Amino acid sequence: MLSGKVAVVTGAASGIGEAAARLFVKEGARVVLGDIQEERLAKLIAELGGPRAAVARRCDVREEQDVQALVASAEEAFGQPLDIMVANAGIVGRTTCPEARMELMDFEGQFDREVQTNLRGTALSIKHAGRAMKAAGRGGCIINVASVASFMANCSTSGDPALITAGYGASKAGVVMLTKLGACELRDAGIRVNAVAPGYTATPMVAQVLGMSIEDTIAYLAKTSPLPGVAILPEDIAQGMLYLASDMARCVNGHTLVIDCGLVAGVPGSRGERKDEEE
Ligand code: NAD
Repeated sequence: MLSGKVAVVTGAASGIGEAAARLFVKEGARVVLGDIQEERLAKLIAELGGPRAAVARRCDVREEQDVQALVASAEEAFGQPLDIMVANAGIVGRTTCPEARMELMDFEGQFDREVQTNLRGTALSIKHAGRAMKAAGRGGCIINVASVASFMANCSTSGDPALITAGYGASKAGVVMLTKLGACELRDAGIRVNAVAPGYTATPMVAQVLGMSIEDTIAYLAKTSPLPGVAILPEDIAQGMLYLASDMARCVNGHTLVIDCGLVAGVPGSRGERKDEEE
């Protein structure tokens, strides 16, 4: 589906970014993987078939020079301009510490780190991918990564307190707006800007928040999912990205595709359905 295309994926060493890189290569794209975890990137490149299919570059998305160099490396590596940018790199701070609450928030700590990575990193990705695509004059496609936390202050599926911090929720809400702004700014150049908004997905990020192994995380997500028994896997989100990157989505622009088993529609039990089952 992506034969002949060149893509960049940020945060490609793990979770959703890794799944996107694997799927895009399988679908015929050549991919530049950017991340701060260089060892994991090197391992992944070997698994993807080496430099003809994929190359890696250290990139901290908070640093403008890094993002600019990552985008430039796509053409350097494959002799062809960038077609697809996946601005995926993101972090969540500690959700259970007292400072996760706004009244005790520590601005120099996790709030700033979350905003710098999730919001500034996405803005820098749109800026530099958009410039490169515009200069090449062949259109293109940018895919950002928002979240159910873009839309819900409390997206807990278990009745426990919210598993998001203010910095995370606010930065992911900002990604939805950056997506619309980018779509408007770049449409005359034939560049589409969209986003995916995953629900809880079984990645190292969520496993760490839950304090569980990946296997236990999958089992936990299946148990607490809005669609009973269905745990969202990184590959499910990558499929949404593939759709947005493909010609099937040629009329889709400025859109955030929610992939959440229906969580944004209402948390489990919000229509009394789980209670009915128990009665
Ligand atoms: P993950 O922790 O498995 O992967 C994130 C990757 O981003 C890691 O490889 C990490 O090294 C990289 N990264 C972190 N900071 C970076 C930086 N400054 N520069 C470059 N790379 C950096 O997490 P994931 O769950 O795969 O998350 C991917 C994206 O999906 C994030 O934007 C996250 O907010 C979003 N998301 C995840 C979920 C979920 O439930 N897993 C839900 C909604 C949104």
